[in-house]
Amino acid sequence: MFNENTCLRCGICLEKCPTMQLPIEIAKEEISKMIETRISEKIIKECTGCGYCNIICPTGSNPVELIRELRMKNHRENGVRCIGIISEEMPYNLMKIGFEIDKEQKQQQIIKYENPPKCDTMFYLGCGISYFYQELANTKLFEDFPLLGGMKYCCSAYAYSYFGEKESKIKGLEFYEKLKTLGIKKLITFCPGCDTMIRNIYPSIIEDFNIEAQTVIEYFIEKYHKGEFKIKQKINKRIAFQDPCTWRIYDKKIYDGPREFLEILGAEVVEMKYNRENSHCCGLPVSSSSRKLGTKIAEERISEAENINADIIAHICTGCLSNLSTYAIKRNINSYYITELAQMAIGETPILKILEKKKKTDAQIMKTIMENPNILKNKYIIKNGKILPL
Ligand code: SF4
Ligand code: SF4
Repeated sequence: MFNENTCLRCGICLEKCPTMQLPIEIAKEEISKMIETRISEKIIKECTGCGYCNIICPTGSNPVELIRELRMKNHRENGVRCIGIISEEMPYNLMKIGFEIDKEQKQQQIIKYENPPKCDTMFYLGCGISYFYQELANTKLFEDFPLLGGMKYCCSAYAYSYFGEKESKIKGLEFYEKLKTLGIKKLITFCPGCDTMIRNIYPSIIEDFNIEAQTVIEYFIEKYHKGEFKIKQKINKRIAFQDPCTWRIYDKKIYDGPREFLEILGAEVVEMKYNRENSHCCGLPVSSSSRKLGTKIAEERISEAENINADIIAHICTGCLSNLSTYAIKRNINSYYITELAQMAIGETPILKILEKKKKTDAQIMKTIMENPNILKNKYIIKNGKILPL
C-alpha cells in the first residue's frame, strides 16, 4: 500500500525516476495531483512500472503502489487492449500473435506443454517461451522434469497488474486447481513475472496456496553443487546481468543467484552502473505507447554495458532479451538468455536467433494490426473473473 501519511510530497521519486526525470517543481505538483485524484496522463504513458522510485523515496512511502492504484483506476474506467490479456478467451493477444510465427513447428510443442505427465516438479516455461521462444526449451538441460506452459497454464499475472487482488485471486484459484490436478508441488520458473506470482503474490492472497517456486538459475546452482551440472567449456567472457524490475518490487533476495551462476560458467561478472535493486528497466513496458522513449531507455542501458566493456549482456526475462538485444548487438555486445550460456557451457550450440526472431515478431504484430485494426481500439475489463468487452 502507498502510505499517504508519510509521503512528504517532495517529488524526489519523479525527479530521480530514470524515465521521467521531471524538474523538481513539476515533480512536486504531479505527485500532489496524483495523490488527490489518482489520475496522471503522464504516468500512464511514460511510467514503466519499474519500481526504482521505491528505493529512492526517503520515507519508504511505496510510491510504486500509488502508481499501481492509478493504473488500475484507469483500467477499470477505460479497459485494457486485448493484446495484453493472455487468455484463451481473447480473439487476439500478444501470445496468439506470436504463435502465428512458424505455427506448424510450434503446435506440437504447445500440445506437449499443455498436457504434461503428472509429476510433483515441472519446468514452468510461461507464455513468452511457449509462444515466442520455444528454442530456449529445446535442450538436454531440461530433460529432468516435464515442461509446463501454454495459455492453459498462464499464471494470469495480467489480472493482478491490471485489475488488482480481487480479480487476481479468482484467476489464481483456477490456476492453482489445475496445478494440483497435475500433482505439482514445485515449479522451476523462467519468467520473473511468473516467479513473482507463485513466490510472492498468490501465497499472500490465496490462503492455502502451496507451490514452491525456484528460478531456473537457482535450480542450476543447486545441481552444480551436487555435482550434477558439468561444465565442458568455460565462458571466458565479461558478462553483465540485466536484473528484472519485478525482483526489486517483490523480492530482493535473489540477486546473488545469477552472478554466482555466471561465475560457475566461467564468466567474469561485470556490473553496469545501475545494478541489483538499483538496476534500470529495459524500456519494453513503454515501447508500445512511445517507441521513442522505449528506445531511449534501452540505449541508455546498453551504454552502461558498453562503458564497462561487457562482451555479453545476459537476461532472465524474455522481455528484456527482446527489447535490449537489437541495441546491444548493434554495439557489438552479445545478448543471451542466461540458459543459452548454460547450453554453451555444456557443449551445446543455442539455436535461438534473437534478432531474426524479433524481426519476424515485429512484422507479425504489424500484419495482424493492419488486418484487424480493432485490436487497438477494442477494450476489455475483468469482472468477477470474466473478461468482458467494455
Ligand atoms: S513518495 Fe516518497 S519520494 Fe515521492 S513524493 Fe512521497 S515522500 Fe517524496
Ligand atoms: S515505477 Fe519506475 S518509471 Fe514509474 S515512476 Fe517509478 S521510477 Fe519512474
